[in-house]
Amino acid sequence: MIKFTLIENSLDSIEQGLTFLSKAEQDNDRSAYKHSLLCLFQGAELILKEILVLIDPITIFDKNSLFKHCASPLSPTMEELYKCKSIDIRSIGQELKKHYGESFTNSNIKVLDKLATERNKIQHFAIEISPEDLTKKLIELYIKVIKPAFKIAQSGEYNEEQNGISLSSINERITEFEKVFLNVKIGDEFYIGMCPSCSEHHHFIIYEGESYPIHTYCISCDYQLNDLNLSDGAYHICPDCSAPSLVYDEKHKAGVCLWRKCYYCQEGGFVKMELCKTCTGYAIEGNCDDCNPDE
Ligand SMILES: [Zn+2]
Ligand SMILES: [Zn+2]
Ligand SMILES: [Zn+2]
Repeated sequence: MIKFTLIENSLDSIEQGLTFLSKAEQDNDRSAYKHSLLCLFQGAELILKEILVLIDPITIFDKNSLFKHCASPLSPTMEELYKCKSIDIRSIGQELKKHYGESFTNSNIKVLDKLATERNKIQHFAIEISPEDLTKKLIELYIKVIKPAFKIAQSGEYNEEQNGISLSSINERITEFEKVFLNVKIGDEFYIGMCPSCSEHHHFIIYEGESYPIHTYCISCDYQLNDLNLSDGAYHICPDCSAPSLVYDEKHKAGVCLWRKCYYCQEGGFVKMELCKTCTGYAIEGNCDDCNPDE
């Protein structure tokens, strides 16, 4: 069995990159911006290779190189692979489109290519780029490349023994990254509750400029609530905290409270909530306020 430790190295690089990025934003430090780009890009490259290795380890190696160094190029030994050249970032993009076309469309690949160019500028030509522009591009890299790759790594057939790190500790680290990233992107306009679907405390509830949450997502599973600002009357009174913070989740046919201090938001999960059989309102914990206001 061929052993790769790409995922751990990738997490280390991304952690460093995000630390540099926070520092760069805080102190307006040019060298921190540069290091942030180098680390985040390297981390992205490694996590992308990791998900390609899940398809087949030879995917990430240059085909000519495999034929040159391996007795049987389709099932090489580890010793042979050490001599082989791995594929460059453009080929990584092509392989991603081929194997993970749903998560990596042209627009995702474009972000990767753009950042590759910026990385080369810094590395080989020592060209400086404007901090505002770079931050914008790094945020794009995180959202459109690193996060979809994490999703694939987290949901694929995960082999703890081979990776030397448990899936739950990977999830914890990814949650920490998301906090740092959101602090850079939107300051403190978010908080974290328990995901009603998977029960992990990885449910990110995002305000982003509003006085109420506008969308949410879980880092550990696919759970999310979107466009809460668009649907008028999206919020109802929660039976536990009495705040107008209860949202009806169509898919799960249940309520979700998004008030950070509410029991349901932090520990309780779904609230019993269904469409009222009599009026157009909702029955929350068995009672519709519009039909029975006094109960
Ligand atoms: Zn979840
Ligand atoms: Zn509540
Ligand atoms: Zn009713």
